[in-house]
Parts: sequence; C-alpha cells; structure tokens
Amino acid sequence: MAKPLAFIATCDLVALVRGRSLFRDGVLNDSKNVGWVPADLSLNAFGGINDDNPYGSVGDLRLLPDLSTEVTLPGINGEDLSIFLANQVLTDGSPWDSCPRTHAQNSIAQLLSDHGIELVASFEHEFTLTNEAEIATGSPFGLDSFRIAEPFGSELVSILESNGLEPENWLAEYGSRQFEITVKPAPALVAADRAILLREIVRDTARRHGMMASFVPLPAVESVGNGVHVHLSFKKDGKQITFDATAPGNLSMIASQAAAGVLKHAAALQAWTAPSQISALRLKPHRWSSAGIFAAVQDREALLRICPVNTIHGADPSTSFNIEYRAADATANPWLVISVLARAISSGINAGKPLDRIYTEPIGEGDTSVPLLPEDLSAAISALQADGEVLSWFSHNLLEAHLGIRRSEAEELEGLTANEKCERYSRVY
Ligand code: GLU
Ligand code: MG
Repeated sequence: MAKPLAFIATCDLVALVRGRSLFRDGVLNDSKNVGWVPADLSLNAFGGINDDNPYGSVGDLRLLPDLSTEVTLPGINGEDLSIFLANQVLTDGSPWDSCPRTHAQNSIAQLLSDHGIELVASFEHEFTLTNEAEIATGSPFGLDSFRIAEPFGSELVSILESNGLEPENWLAEYGSRQFEITVKPAPALVAADRAILLREIVRDTARRHGMMASFVPLPAVESVGNGVHVHLSFKKDGKQITFDATAPGNLSMIASQAAAGVLKHAAALQAWTAPSQISALRLKPHRWSSAGIFAAVQDREALLRICPVNTIHGADPSTSFNIEYRAADATANPWLVISVLARAISSGINAGKPLDRIYTEPIGEGDTSVPLLPEDLSAAISALQADGEVLSWFSHNLLEAHLGIRRSEAEELEGLTANEKCERYSRVY
C-alpha cells in the first residue's frame, strides 16, 4: 500500500489554495514542513505574477502546518489525501509579515488582549453547480433542485461532518443551480480555516462527480450572486455578550460599538472582502447582498444584518444571536476577511460609540441617509488608500502585494465586457 500523502496548504491573496505535499506520517511524527516562495503570494486569480511585486525572485519561506487543521479528501483511485493548513514562516520559524493566517491570528489576539473579546464566526457560502447535463435546473429552494444535486449533496455533508467542519444547513438556493452550505459557529480562526477547507471540499466533491462548483461572486451580470456571509458574535470569559433583550435591535452596547466600527471602515474593508474586478457588481440594491452601508434588523439588503433569534422550544436567544457581514465573497481570503473585521471591531470598541441608527424597515429607494458602498473595486481601493487606520493594519509588503494583484487583474481583463469578466472568474472560483 502506498504511503499516504498530505498536502500542506496556504490560501493566498486571491483566496486560492496552493501548497506542496509531504508524506503524512512525516508531518505528524517528525514535524516536517515544506519550502515555499514569497512571490507566490503575488499570484493573481489567473496565474500571473505582476513584475512590480514586492517580493521579487529572492527569498525562501517554509509552510508550517497546523496539525489541528487536518481534513481528509477521499482518494482519487487510491489513497485518501490529507490537507493541513499552514502558516508561511521564515526559514528559522519566525513569522513572515505577509502571511494572511498570521495576520488573522494577530488581529484576533489583539481583540482579546485589548478588549477581552473572543470573536466567534461562521462563514455561509453560496455556489453554483454546473457542467453536467444531468444537473437540470430545478425550482428555487425546491425539493427537485435538492434531489437533482444528489448524490453530491449527501456526500458533501458527510465529508464535512466526518472532518469536523460541523455542517448545519445544506440547501438549494434561489438562483439557477445555486446551492448553499452553512457550518456551525466557531472561534474566528477556526471559522476562517473551515471556510478555506470547505471550498476545497465542495470543489473536489463536485469534480469527482463530473461537475464544477463555482463560488464566483456573479456567474453572469444578470444572474443571482454567490455571497459569502460572515456571521459574527462576541464572547467574554466564555459567555455570549452580543445579545441584550432591552437594547435597540437586541444589540448589546459592545456589539453595537463593534458594528459601528465595521460601518465606519466599510468602504475600505470592501477592498479586502470583495476584491475581484467583478465583486462590486454583486453589491448592488435588490440583489439581497448588501445595498449600502447600514445595519438593520433582519434586512437582507443591509451590510450588517442583525439575524433573528430562534426561541422555539424555549431556546436561549443569546446563544444563537449574531450579526452578519454580507459584503464578502469567495475571491477574498477568509483569514484576511476575519482579520479586517476583527480590526474594525476593535476600532469601533476603541471609539466607544454605538450605532447611530439601526434600521427596522426596508430602506426606501434613494434614501440618502444610507451611504452607498464603493461602486467598483477601484473606488474601494481609493477608500482604502484614504483610510489611514485600515492602512496601518498591514505591512508595506502585504499591502503592495494586494494592490499589485488588483492592478494586474484589471490589466488582464481590460477590454472585456462585464459578462466576459464574470465568465473568466467563474472558471477560477
Ligand atoms: N445571494 C445573495 C448574495 O449574493 C444572498 C441571498 C441570501 O441568502 O440572503 O449575497
Ligand atoms: Mg443564501
């Protein structure tokens, strides 16, 4: 029998998982790690590396696996394959200042040390399943759509379950061939790790069934978008502190301050959480994604949606209560999504100001009390460049790598129609 392999993986600035393999027993028993190249972080979604990337041809890193992240994919005509997520470190094991996972760990740790807050999160993913004559289009949320996706659906949920990713809901979504998978909330780093692994498990399971799963934010301009919604809640000393039955929107003072921090930096955050050339097309009114920079009770057009509580059978509302950040998509690295949200939350709590307003009614057409989100990526990047506080969260190199990728993708797609751009990204994500 062949010795099982393990894929040591990082997730890069275009949210793709890359890495190298080692024998699994070497990883587990001899603490093996594997070499890596700094400039790999400047790969764009289409495989190009911009010449003006900050890393150049010099330097070496190691991918240092975190053994707690192991998941196993069913073998393709052979042994199962383990995947371990890794931090990118210098060759002496010290942190590399561009590593997205380390960035998230630092931001989460800072929220804890500054405010005693443990960030809890869960990523909710939508994706489109295509490429197979048998995948006919069923009705929105329909049992027919659900059944058409079998045996993919049951197998996906079972792989997620056996790997400890704690799947909750598997459903046929509203869009044509669109599905959604949710997992239970977890400490924020675990939640981001799970998001990265979940996407790979979904894509891998689809491939093994002769299909393609795409998390592209928009399959085509007129189609329903695939969102990534990040559910956030806060704990202190292990206890939920997000819910307050007597407060506006049931949001505790600290949660309201945290939400205000996210709204304050929202335009700059978009450059990290929705960073492809097509991402902003999804973030428009009437798409139930996010129509502007506001927080609202249960409104699916809000940037921050205060989710309902379930009190059936006497359930304690505080345990499930959470705020949902809706302006993320799967072209964004989940570690960086969590990282910028943790920083914005810290910033809001530092400022000590609760939300000015929590909307309880749908916003009216042209309601000028609601600031719009940046209309495209270049507007989001301008907002980032104008937000000194957000800029200060990043090392020079990480920021330059991020901006360089966006320039190179814009150049690569120049002259294409919006639909052609959607098509290019569909094939990657
Ligand atoms: N498809 C919507 C989006 O692009 C989300 C719909 C929903 O689940 O609320 O974010
Ligand atoms: Mg959905």
